[in-house]
Amino acid sequence: MIQLLPAWCFHCHRFISRPLLSPSPYLCRSCYEMLPVIDRPICRRCGLHHPTGDCREPWAEHIHTFYAMFYYQDPIQRWIVNLKYSGGFFAGRLLRHFIDVWFETNAERVRNLDAVLPVPIHPFRLRQRGFNQTTFLLRKQRILPLQTRILKKQRFTSQQAGLARWKRSDNIRDSFQAHASVHSKNVLVFDDVCTTGQTLGEVCTCLKKAGAGEIHVLTLSRSM
Ligand SMILES: [Zn+2]
Ligand SMILES: [Zn+2]
Repeated sequence: MIQLLPAWCFHCHRFISRPLLSPSPYLCRSCYEMLPVIDRPICRRCGLHHPTGDCREPWAEHIHTFYAMFYYQDPIQRWIVNLKYSGGFFAGRLLRHFIDVWFETNAERVRNLDAVLPVPIHPFRLRQRGFNQTTFLLRKQRILPLQTRILKKQRFTSQQAGLARWKRSDNIRDSFQAHASVHSKNVLVFDDVCTTGQTLGEVCTCLKKAGAGEIHVLTLSRSM
């Protein structure tokens, strides 16, 4: 299949003369090389930079492995905000390409899991936004079955961004529900951003209550 490549870099707007030399079809090589990739080891439970075995993040207690791709910094942060709040699907496709590549690169590590679960948004938010960005971002990867019906956001909550840390945990408590079919299944939970971890912690708690097996987590970006 011939892939149509944009002729200009999405970030610096310069013409990409030889786009195939860049690992991203949307960026020139120099912009690609400036992305805030997480290139130091992170805690396998909470995704922060601290020595493994010393995790003091109680929300992360059910997490078996934490994978994170980028720091939540520009331009990744701007592209995520653009996708979520302005329906920026070009930025979305650019980000989704990174996720596809991540799955291809890490196929051996995750292939024996049963499913990848996008963190859901409430039906009201879904109507407002028109799509769930986490589902959108996972749609093209072909390594794990995408299950969008296991997790549900059952209670409408204020946006976590902008709330103080202690308020975030109150705001999000008991707001998710997991379907009983996840019992004994090993899953990879996916979110676009992890900030304080309260949302992921809540998702993992409800998966555990439903009897899930191993819970692994992948976030497109992690704020440190
Ligand atoms: Zn560029
Ligand atoms: Zn930790």
